[in-house]
Amino acid sequence: MSTPVAVNLMQVRKQIELAVLAAGRVPGSVSLLAVSKTMPAQAVRDAHAAGQLAFGENYIQEAVDKMAMLADLPLTWHCIGPVQSNKTKLVAEHFAWVHSIDRLKIAQRLSVQRPAHLPPLQVCLQVNVDGGRNKSGVSPHDLLALAKAVAALPQIQLRGLMTIPEPAETEAAARNVHHQAKRLFDNLKEAGLALDTLSMGMTGDLEAAIAEGSTCVRVGTAIFGQR
Ligand SMILES: *Cc1c(COP(=O)(O)O)cnc(C)c1O
Repeated sequence: MSTPVAVNLMQVRKQIELAVLAAGRVPGSVSLLAVSKTMPAQAVRDAHAAGQLAFGENYIQEAVDKMAMLADLPLTWHCIGPVQSNKTKLVAEHFAWVHSIDRLKIAQRLSVQRPAHLPPLQVCLQVNVDGGRNKSGVSPHDLLALAKAVAALPQIQLRGLMTIPEPAETEAAARNVHHQAKRLFDNLKEAGLALDTLSMGMTGDLEAAIAEGSTCVRVGTAIFGQR
């Protein structure tokens, strides 16, 4: 019995692998994060039954409630939404990854609050590449200093960058933003940081993101339907 979520997942995986091949990249080099925000626990179960293990959530309390309902499954949870100071403890205790760090203060709190029996929290810095005004993200100018400071925190492992481009008018414009994110990612690696994750690409722009070097696409709508 294949659920709609299972069918969609198969299509998205195929779309990713075709984009990887078209870009001349190594098969399997782009991972899929299923974004389950606002979706019921059953939708996550359906995705798990179809082989999906990594899930992204934006709203922390909603995510923690969902995790409790799904505690019988071996899932990996990624926080991809804004993290306020009053939510860092929940994030540190419940998530494996956070993609949306843009301030040292939040990273410091997460490091202090990460329980000692858990592996270090895996972190990406959210970078505001296109200067979208009402959006979070560290500016490219401040990125290197933030990356060095976060990488030095004991209970944090800095893995890479995350970006959420503004919807672009053209394919070329979309690729330009992704290209800039990839350059920032490469600059950090050249500066000596050991990074392996470039989290970019969603339902609407995953091909452009993969063409420009994304290693992790975060897909909600194409898997779970409209929110
Ligand atoms: C909602 C969300 C996604 C998924 O977006 P879709 O367009 O539904 O694929 C990815 N990343 C972030 C940060 C999001 O908030």
